[in-house]
Amino acid sequence: MDSFSLGGVEVTRVVEFETPTRPPAVMFTEIGPQVWHDNRSWLAPDHWDHDTGLLMTRMQTFVLRSGGATILVDTGVGNDKSRPSIPAFDRRGTDFLARLAAVNVLPEDVDLVVNTHLHADHVGWNTRLVDGNWVPTFPYARYLMPRADYDFWRPDSARSARSTRPARTAAANANVFDDSVAPVVRAGQAVLWEDSYDIDGALRLEYAPGHTPGSSVLTLRSGGELAVFVGDVLHHPVQIIEPDANSCFCEDPTAARASRRRVLDRAADQGALVFPAHLRGGSGARVRRNGSSYTIQSWAPFRERV
Ligand SMILES: [Zn+2]
Repeated sequence: MDSFSLGGVEVTRVVEFETPTRPPAVMFTEIGPQVWHDNRSWLAPDHWDHDTGLLMTRMQTFVLRSGGATILVDTGVGNDKSRPSIPAFDRRGTDFLARLAAVNVLPEDVDLVVNTHLHADHVGWNTRLVDGNWVPTFPYARYLMPRADYDFWRPDSARSARSTRPARTAAANANVFDDSVAPVVRAGQAVLWEDSYDIDGALRLEYAPGHTPGSSVLTLRSGGELAVFVGDVLHHPVQIIEPDANSCFCEDPTAARASRRRVLDRAADQGALVFPAHLRGGSGARVRRNGSSYTIQSWAPFRERV
């Protein structure tokens, strides 16, 4: 099993799939070619395929076992979903549930699902298609969703930020609310939380807005160990050395930079392991300060190399 323990919490990673994505200049418009060139030795090939010129990304779910509960952090892209503007996400048919079963997690075993935010690649396995209907994949789970994201993407929302500022990622997130969020709410399994939410004595969710209005981070604190699951506050390891650079999917650039710096400051000061949602290679890393920036100190101690 591809896992390790932090204090009393077991952390297991389950990879849904990996794919090339966009050219660096498209994904990170604020980062010039020199940065990529200068850091090629560690960015390629795991995080950047220099031959094709495309960034590499991974869809993965972190399974946490804490206090007897089984908790999933983000649920990837999902199967059978219509994602017309993102071919790599469109109508997939991956063996993710078999991969979960391989680490001894059946759908009915899941107690809690954490969606760090409500983008297409974080809520996909919230639901699956059964007899033409989208139903919650995890029948007994509560799903923790940030209310600010729910309000932002809800089509009928009067208070939606979309009323004053269109979502940058509207096309990329087409259909997502209807097929991956609303069915969970209708089933009575969604918990819409605001600002912060304590899951148990070891796990706490907090807003870190910017990438989306409700983007959140999950802090794990147990037995003197510390980790933070940051969703897309960090999209790619290049943002550790270029923390002010946003991805093209960040809704509020100023807030996204501030949240990223705050998360990295705290992680560096406290020696926390940082787990972005899409990191390949070691999936997570400890960071340390490097002038006004940061650098990777060590990778997470997963046993297997994916
Ligand atoms: Zn993402």
